[in-house]
Amino acid sequence: MSLNICINGYKGRMGNAIAETATESGHKISGNVDIGDNLEEALAKSDLVIDFSLNNVTRSVFETAAKLGKPIVCGTTGHTQKDRVDLLKIAEPVPIVWAGNFSIGVNLLCYLTERAADILPLYYNAEIVEMHHRMKKDAPSGTALMLAESILGPRNLSYDDLRHGREGVPGERGEREVGMHSLRGGDVVGDHTAIFADIGERIELTHKASSRTIFSHGAIRAAEWIVGKPPGIYSIRDVLGLK
Ligand code: NAD
Repeated sequence: MSLNICINGYKGRMGNAIAETATESGHKISGNVDIGDNLEEALAKSDLVIDFSLNNVTRSVFETAAKLGKPIVCGTTGHTQKDRVDLLKIAEPVPIVWAGNFSIGVNLLCYLTERAADILPLYYNAEIVEMHHRMKKDAPSGTALMLAESILGPRNLSYDDLRHGREGVPGERGEREVGMHSLRGGDVVGDHTAIFADIGERIELTHKASSRTIFSHGAIRAAEWIVGKPPGIYSIRDVLGLK
């Protein structure tokens, strides 16, 4: 199946990687959209939109796709939980895959983290560490939040239990806390570790990305999967068959 793909944010690092993977996979780029370009015009002649741009652009992308009835593959991160819920309402009339990370390895990491969080008692203290390149604008990364959800769910915790960094005299660590630490520097594509630490031992589950193609391959796979699906919110696990 050859798709006509509209890329929103095509001048960016991910936009470039997606254009390359799409072309290699036999698809056509029917819309190259970046700041100032007309998304509606480009999307009207496309089968779907793939958006990797900025979090404050997501609303207009979803509104345009919903208006035109076009599927969405979204990789943009940096939204609050509330924004995410509101945005997904806008996208209700169309099928959408919105993932903080499209790599197969990271989705396996989340799956394994979920298992570890379920098997290990709460006194195996969970902490998340992520590192990205110095140009990254949002923190923590969307992937770190996916990892957090993999820990919060099985442990019956909530977003209020996340502890974003520590400084001063925060006191002893509580059992319910899930630490979240964002490092930034250089050209790191994306490192993520989930740590479960008890007295005498600790388990670390780590994924390191060294190329953006892992995300663009996942996004193109999602694009091929979602065209023709009924409206709904799908996860990358649906696409990869990890459920
Ligand atoms: P980038 O800064 O290199 O690219 C963003 C692009 O969006 C730029 O070209 C910018 O001009 C464009 N843009 C800004 N405003 C726009 C507008 N109004 N309309 C259209 N385009 C607009 O960033 P990047 O590294 O390519 O990352 C983009 C997003 O994707 C970020 O949110 C990042 O966290 C996320 N990301 C997600 C995954 C994943 O697997 N889900 C992987 C990598 C990056």
